[in-house]
Amino acid sequence: MKRIMYLGLYWGDRYGEPPKSQAQKERDRRRVRELLKNIGKEKMFKPDEQLYDLELEICSPVFHYLMEELQKTPHLASSYIRVERIYTLEEKESAPLLQWRITNESIEDDYYGLYPSRDRKGIGDYVRRCEACGAPLEQIRDLWLNTRKMPKKGLSLTYSHEIILAPWLAQALQEAGFTGFTLRPAWHYTRPNQGEPPLYQLVVTHTLPPMASPPTEFESVQHCEVCGTTSHFLKRTHYWGKVQYYEDTDIYYTPEALAQAQDFNRTAELFGVLRVAKPYVLISQRVYRWLREHKVRGWDVVPVYVSRKEGEGR
Ligand SMILES: [Zn+2]
Repeated sequence: MKRIMYLGLYWGDRYGEPPKSQAQKERDRRRVRELLKNIGKEKMFKPDEQLYDLELEICSPVFHYLMEELQKTPHLASSYIRVERIYTLEEKESAPLLQWRITNESIEDDYYGLYPSRDRKGIGDYVRRCEACGAPLEQIRDLWLNTRKMPKKGLSLTYSHEIILAPWLAQALQEAGFTGFTLRPAWHYTRPNQGEPPLYQLVVTHTLPPMASPPTEFESVQHCEVCGTTSHFLKRTHYWGKVQYYEDTDIYYTPEALAQAQDFNRTAELFGVLRVAKPYVLISQRVYRWLREHKVRGWDVVPVYVSRKEGEGR
């Protein structure tokens, strides 16, 4: 696994803080220029440009140098720094389960969920929501979509992260004999419930036991007393000394929990803010290989790890 940090060096005023004096700005500008020079990037420097975006491989000499220097002047680090992970094929192929991240979000949401003002017949949202927090509690009708937005590649998420399949892909997944899912028709919004469905919604029916936590860590947990829904984020906020950055932490399961996995699985935990709370979808190696062999596009996977004992890493 490679970890890439996207970090900016910045000498301008910071949001929410008093403006810097001219002398301070000048000192910070000189320091940023010096740092760029010391990592061989002096050519990036332009006198009026305040922000310099850098891509650093974590644990490279340049990364260590900059992190050490930024401990002395953490105010020169941009306020949003993220770390992305790049997994090798071998890591993906040896994981006991994989988080399925559909990257294609071409198709819109349910038409009357998205445009309630155009709903003159009182059709309403496709989910029943908690009246207090808005969390989706139950799907109460098929999705009505603008199916013209569906890409040819056959797989897309709606804005609310429902998984939409072209008929050929839905049929092929069923014929492959995969477990843990069912299909539900998805209609064009002007012609619901007529003839053959133009698209299908993939509904993951199998729920895994809770993640092993620790080592899995969460943050920003929200809970609604009225409907009992709890939603999380995977822990993202971390510090390298005084420099704050964002990186999703790993997901762990016990071997006993993994033994219960099917081909498609939903996590017991919900993620996101309450109004859009959704489980993650985890797929088996069989599904992963099948999707690759059948050249289905618009998705990626992130390995899930085994926690041997409570509190122990991979
Ligand atoms: Zn609620």
